[in-house]
Amino acid sequence: MNLAKDIIKGNRTALGQGITLIESTLPKHKKQAQELINNCLTHSGESIRIGITGIPGVGKSTFIDVFGNLLTKKGHKVAVLAIDPTSKKTQGSILGDKTRMSKLSNNENAFVRPSPNKNTLGGIAAKTRESIILCEAAGFDIILIETVGVGQSETKVESIVDFFLLLMLAGAGDELQGIKRGIMELADALIITKSDGKNLQDAKNAALRYKNAIHLFPITENGWIPQVKICSALENNGIDQIYNLIIDFDTQMRNNGWKKENRYNQQKLWLHQIIKEELGNQKYEKLLNENVIEKFEITLSESKSVYHIFDRLK
Ligand code: GDP
Repeated sequence: MNLAKDIIKGNRTALGQGITLIESTLPKHKKQAQELINNCLTHSGESIRIGITGIPGVGKSTFIDVFGNLLTKKGHKVAVLAIDPTSKKTQGSILGDKTRMSKLSNNENAFVRPSPNKNTLGGIAAKTRESIILCEAAGFDIILIETVGVGQSETKVESIVDFFLLLMLAGAGDELQGIKRGIMELADALIITKSDGKNLQDAKNAALRYKNAIHLFPITENGWIPQVKICSALENNGIDQIYNLIIDFDTQMRNNGWKKENRYNQQKLWLHQIIKEELGNQKYEKLLNENVIEKFEITLSESKSVYHIFDRLK
């Protein structure tokens, strides 16, 4: 069986098996997993990676179900890597997310993968970064990474995505939603969900308030002004505008070079994390002080695995 070949052909069963392999904590799987990632890397990178965050109940799965189906109608292939909020209780229920995103799970141009959150590192599953590579190699050109917004955790997801979408409720206070100013500053778009029925006016008011707040934020490095939108997944309103917004963002960031630069910076971060994880803090500090890591940073590229470099460090 050649898992990498099957994944590159777009075989979804193989993709599922591949993600299971890289999520495995068994030592015997480690080498295989790294090899698989290496083989997939040259076929990855060409996607828009979108982080979607918000508190439980804000409407993430309903939004992703509708948004994901719109994306496939536009001709995209969509992969959803979801942190399964039910897995704590059910020990990683796969069914949990299948029923949460029922339409998308049955869409042949979509792949929905819940990850057990017991492995989460700052709100994203420990191997989400690697899972993205496999999804891209399988031909998925939009990757949605869903995380539950609790406290600090969202800050990590922005280190693996191109675009960061924060879903919010009108009427609930920011504190109630665990939303700190720092998290809002990271968002490329703030979306007020459930903007329908008797909620609509509240949603419009909230959007105005956030628009005003955003004006006071420091100018972003990439020149993008974070956008505030309202939407209703239930009534399928405003979803198209969010798609257009993201496509605009992607075009701008490709043109001004930020997308490439950001991905490079994310790779650097990945390299540092892996060295720390694998060799321990002490060795990491030593390598850092001796400027060894810096030398490797220069050789990083999107099509090369950081594991490859890591092997040479040992
Ligand atoms: P999650 O926990 O963030 O994934 O939230 P869900 O997608 O499960 O939604 C939580 C609740 O809000 C469910 O009862 C949904 O039916 C409801 N909901 C989700 N989106 C909308 C919407 O656009 N309008 C309204 N009125 N309700 C919604």
